[in-house]
Amino acid sequence: MGTVWFVGAGPGDPELITVKGRDLLARAGAILFAGSLVDAAATRWAPAGCAIADSKDMTLEQIASWLIAQAGRCETVVRLQTGDPALYGTLIELVQPLDAAGIAVRVVPGVSSAMAAAAAAVESFTLPEVTQSVIFTRVAGRTPMPPGEDLAALASHRCTLCIFLSITLLHKVEAGLREAGWPEDAPMLVVHKASWPGEELIVRGTLADIRQRCREAKIVSQAMIIASPALGARQRGAPARSKLYDAGFTHRFRRASAAAGAKESP
Ligand code: SAH
Repeated sequence: MGTVWFVGAGPGDPELITVKGRDLLARAGAILFAGSLVDAAATRWAPAGCAIADSKDMTLEQIASWLIAQAGRCETVVRLQTGDPALYGTLIELVQPLDAAGIAVRVVPGVSSAMAAAAAAVESFTLPEVTQSVIFTRVAGRTPMPPGEDLAALASHRCTLCIFLSITLLHKVEAGLREAGWPEDAPMLVVHKASWPGEELIVRGTLADIRQRCREAKIVSQAMIIASPALGARQRGAPARSKLYDAGFTHRFRRASAAAGAKESP
């Protein structure tokens, strides 16, 4: 019996798969990818003769039986997942039938679309003295939010929010932020098809106008919504500096300069 590898394909740019993920594709006997988002990576790196299928019209049972059948036939079977497999990727639902069939499962992480969105816009999710925390979430669509996880509750922390699967529910995102007291001029960012060569779209706005701006840009799918007090820091004045590069700060790799007045290491 072969091993089924759940491989994070990255956010869209085929070059954003990990070296390990690419090497697995290059020796895969079978690859199952999830819709158009990751087919470029599959077809670019797969060997000749590899069985390649798209799971977009398959049910969970069909996906599981395909993977099980291929694992009986070849040593390396790859299930390509968009971004990172641990985020909104039905990983556990797919692993359970493989466990039941006695098939070995491994996971290779990938670059999440949240990180690709930050990279596209040259933004940092964390800034000293502004926010040091990031929440990955979504608003309720057909999948309800568990108790305590509605956006208003999460947004009350005033940290960075990366909101998946919610571009058609932007009105709910706005309502949640308003309920948590975010001001109308709070900066927001929407990135459509982050990292996709030639197709990426970056829309900046505020709580007051982001929906209108997305409508104008005709963004209705495959978009990451970011709300964060750290957004736009590049254009603002001098921010608080990280202690890591502070001349007066001693850490494991560097001694503080005496002139800067040595401070305690964290
Ligand atoms: N596991 C994936 C998320 C899958 S859920 C990851 O780690 O990125 C699908 C959602 O991810 C989409 O609704 C959208 O919010 C986001 N997404 C996936 N690819 C994207 C991309 N290239 N650009 C922007 N958002 C993307």
